[in-house]
Amino acid sequence: MIIDSIQMAIGDTPMLRFTHHQFEEIPKGSAIYAKLEYLNPGGSIKDRLGAYLIKEGIEQRKITENTVIIEPTAGNTGIGVAIAAQAAKLSTMFVVPEKFSLEKQELMRALGAEIVHTPTEEGIKGAIAEAKRLHAERSNSYLPLQFDNPANPEAYYHTLGPELIKDLGSSITSFVAGIGSGGTFSGVARYLLKHVPLIRLIGVEPEGSILNGGASHSHEIEGIGVEFIPTFLEGLPVHDFATISDAEGFAMTRRLAKEHGTLVGSSSGAAMAAALREVATLPAGSQVVTVFPDAGDRYLSKQIYSRTDY
Ligand code: PMP
Repeated sequence: MIIDSIQMAIGDTPMLRFTHHQFEEIPKGSAIYAKLEYLNPGGSIKDRLGAYLIKEGIEQRKITENTVIIEPTAGNTGIGVAIAAQAAKLSTMFVVPEKFSLEKQELMRALGAEIVHTPTEEGIKGAIAEAKRLHAERSNSYLPLQFDNPANPEAYYHTLGPELIKDLGSSITSFVAGIGSGGTFSGVARYLLKHVPLIRLIGVEPEGSILNGGASHSHEIEGIGVEFIPTFLEGLPVHDFATISDAEGFAMTRRLAKEHGTLVGSSSGAAMAAALREVATLPAGSQVVTVFPDAGDRYLSKQIYSRTDY
């Protein structure tokens, strides 16, 4: 396959089928399909969002020649936006809470972005506030703000959702996916509901996230978990939220690497753990779809594969 820009390599990722042969927990006759989003060129699902946000911004004239793109991000959105912005010759500035992976920050810088840090204790809320302040200060800047922007779920509604239906048709029993901004989950879920009205929708969060109630606290699984309920979930018929502990999420992430050759991040491990819980409750013949959002090598400095404390 010959392509003329790296952006043409975004999307149409493979789907890896797991059955009882690979995971004995999966009932015979059922399957889990994992959409391998870590194989996008920037190493994550957010390449789709970056491409969509920049295209939409240019089309709607929110972005012109010298616009600086400003965005609060844990990193993957920054990488996706930076790839798209680079192609459009735009500069980027990302506001990142300090605790997030150094590799992601290096990758954003490698793509030409400027990084602004906010204190870890202020979480993503602190990064959002700082990004808004920087945006207000600069006259020709654009703040896509993935947490509020309907273009976030739309990016997945128009790309990932149709790819799943193309490969699996209406035979999908459940869709299981992690929730950070909620863009992936709600965008894909709304598309799937149109084609499979009885589909079960299972959101995945780490312990310390608030979707199942309880107080917000820090967790090591990176990329998912919320401090507030994402607006994108409003009106969505979610059947359940699976809360996955750091221990369970990291154990599954390591198992995926060691036994299945999938070098994914901890939100993928959490998604797989939740998909296994889901498929175990369903009759034989069920098809559970999940998403592996990013690659594991961006967490090596956090000993993702070698830590022994959980
Ligand atoms: N996994 C990882 C590694 C991520 O970076 C993100 C986005 N923060 C997600 C999952 C969740 O995606 P979304 O923001 O679309 O809910």
